[in-house]
Amino acid sequence: MAKKSVKYVCGSCGAQYSAWAGRCSQCGEWNSIAEEVQLVASNTNGVKPSGRILPSQAVKASAAKPEHRLQTGILDVDIVLGGGLVPGGVVLIAGQPGIGKSTLLLQLANAIAGQAAVLYVSGEESEHQIGIRATRLSAAATKLQLATSNSADDVAATIASKQFQLVVVDSIQTMQAAGVTSAPGSVSQITNSTNTLLQAAKQSNTALLIVGHVTKEGAIAGPKLLEHIVDVVLTLEGEAYGGFKVLRATKNRFGPTTEAAIMEMDEQGLKPVLNPSQALLEERQITDGSVVLATLRVLVHYWWKSRRL
Ligand SMILES: [Zn+2]
Repeated sequence: MAKKSVKYVCGSCGAQYSAWAGRCSQCGEWNSIAEEVQLVASNTNGVKPSGRILPSQAVKASAAKPEHRLQTGILDVDIVLGGGLVPGGVVLIAGQPGIGKSTLLLQLANAIAGQAAVLYVSGEESEHQIGIRATRLSAAATKLQLATSNSADDVAATIASKQFQLVVVDSIQTMQAAGVTSAPGSVSQITNSTNTLLQAAKQSNTALLIVGHVTKEGAIAGPKLLEHIVDVVLTLEGEAYGGFKVLRATKNRFGPTTEAAIMEMDEQGLKPVLNPSQALLEERQITDGSVVLATLRVLVHYWWKSRRL
């Protein structure tokens, strides 16, 4: 038996309320609070838990298993991940729309398809559109599988079938979980869809890459709420047109959060900048009194706003 519980969550900082309010008293954001429906199992009053008994094994045996990570084909991205994608690991790639997340993921999916079974699920574009982009990225020749869907349950069932070692979901804002009536992109849909996908990934030991869009204002609730659920949060930042893109981890259960991949977009997709120091200092004017200042403009500023939670 499962019953639904309703709570109200601020999409900006994640604060929870029992009733709706126009303004979040935690972070001061207006119109950021939305209803979140969660399916809760009711196993009180002597009712047995519906789950199964967990198999367990000694720590020694678990540690002895060699860890096989999937290599992404871009060394810098592997370094940011802490050595590649971990089976059963759930990675969120967050960034503004149009920054190049889909391009980067299609490239990575294509590279990994050379060594493992990979499925790219898009809720944003048709298979034809992705196919055209894949051809441009010279990805069309590989064994990469494409599918279009907005159903988190269908994607979860596909993940659970263990046909694929990596599944890419582009984007979480287009996914819809059964039993949740609100529109795709809402707080309830994003949290429930992610949980559905995550459970399937963990159970089947499938690596899962999820795309999450954010806006400059941090208005879209998704990625902020997902940060707590997923294993790794990568942010792709930079200018939408031209210039460098920086990929870095703001959370990583499998590696460091100190590495960054600096890339540049060309017709064949994102390419790592081999000598970032040289490239960044290219326009430097060497005259008396010239000063070089290293700064990082944090576009996804609201990631940090909630650190006090
Ligand atoms: Zn708030």
